[in-house]
Amino acid sequence: MTRRRMISGNWKMNGTADALGEVTEIARAALASPGVDIALCLPATLIARAAAAAPGLAIGGQDVHASASGAHTGCISPAMLLDAGATLTIVGHSERRQDQHETDADVRAKASAALAAGLGVILCVGESDEVRTSGDAVAFVSAQLDASLPDAPSDASRLSLAYEPIWAIGTGKVASTADIAQMHLALRARLVAAYGEPGQAMRLLYGGSVKAGNAAEIFAVPDVDGALVGGASLKAADFVSIVGAAG
Ligand code: PEP
Repeated sequence: MTRRRMISGNWKMNGTADALGEVTEIARAALASPGVDIALCLPATLIARAAAAAPGLAIGGQDVHASASGAHTGCISPAMLLDAGATLTIVGHSERRQDQHETDADVRAKASAALAAGLGVILCVGESDEVRTSGDAVAFVSAQLDASLPDAPSDASRLSLAYEPIWAIGTGKVASTADIAQMHLALRARLVAAYGEPGQAMRLLYGGSVKAGNAAEIFAVPDVDGALVGGASLKAADFVSIVGAAG
């Protein structure tokens, strides 16, 4: 099955109004790369302004609450993300799993709510250095995925996974192409076990220190359908080079 590649940036807790020029530059590059889906997952404070400044670019959140509304101070519902102009959201990023103690059940609930509301979802999974060293990475991440997967989406292409080894995020270390291939093969099998044939349509992104210099090699790995990019998405020139490597 052919899946459209997706390159999504994750700005994390970076960016104020003076960074909107980077967003519009990335939007221009997106227009020039119609074969690749490009998205930027921005701090919540920038979503509405970025959506207005770059109408052709998919803008996403970095987290979402599972409830539609209510007494959840500081949280943002799926409807609020849509209202601000977002069309997708990340859920289950390892920084939230660690810093906010989000469980697989939390991630599953968030992903289900976001998909039901009509958002696209990038669901992140990945192992620690300790798990990788112990040799249990595939079993660990497969179990994490099984427990985090949402109810079947009505449109399979709106659910993407990002395999992000925690030890590769922001460190300059990248998983070997053999390890990425092994993990993505296992994750594809879990998606098909969970959803049947629609599991073939879901994109598997790799994330963890993807840069212009290593992107082409990573995108050549079987079952890699794109990337979730942190640090290298903050500057349009760096991010656009990665988009270029995706075709
Ligand atoms: C991320 O935050 O999802 C990520 C992959 O970061 P970086 O590209 O900086 O490693």
